[in-house]
Amino acid sequence: MAKLRWLGHAAFQITTAEGRQIYIDPWLEGNPSCPVAKGDLEVADLVLVTHDHHDHLGDAAALLAAGDAVAVGQPELIGQLEAAGVPVEKLIGMNIGGSVEVAGVVVTMTQAFHSAARGGPVGYILTLAQGQVIYHAGDTGIFSDMELLGKLYDIDVALLPIGSVYTMDPFQAAAAVELISPQVVFPMHYGTFPALVQDAAEFSQLVAKRTPHVKVIVLKPGEKWEF
Ligand SMILES: [Zn+2]
Repeated sequence: MAKLRWLGHAAFQITTAEGRQIYIDPWLEGNPSCPVAKGDLEVADLVLVTHDHHDHLGDAAALLAAGDAVAVGQPELIGQLEAAGVPVEKLIGMNIGGSVEVAGVVVTMTQAFHSAARGGPVGYILTLAQGQVIYHAGDTGIFSDMELLGKLYDIDVALLPIGSVYTMDPFQAAAAVELISPQVVFPMHYGTFPALVQDAAEFSQLVAKRTPHVKVIVLKPGEKWEF
């Protein structure tokens, strides 16, 4: 069994069946909805960052300081980590459409529609060794090629932003669920700041109406789900 843990905002920890630790968008310190101190987390094997905004790049460099952790990201973002003192042997540059295998997980980079100071915003599709497929959309508006991603990768678990203002709102995110057609969807990137949508109620209702076969799981920050 693998475990998915929401660390608040867009930050997730995935523990694979083999015990490898993957962190996505690890904004921990200063994240008002992260309930865990960075020092209390398991040492990372793989760190993925969707774009260089502070609420996503977060504590990536600090997580990479321990153990043999490796980061994967667009070359421009990898350059920022290198400038922050992360040794080059811990950094893997890639780009949209490509896949790399790290820590027993196949990481595929996808497009996202957002902005970034350097490089572009992206999402990730992770294929675990047992076959589970997880899509972290990053920060994005809806786009019709989400349907193509769903067809190509048979996505089991989708992690989608619903908070509006900077990303999809509940209306767009529910339509994205229909395009992606996952088994399970977890809303993210809401409730962190007063400007964002504060809860997942509207999103849950819209998905239940539009795609009742897709299960919405609303975690509290810090909670885990096994799959
Ligand atoms: Zn963000």
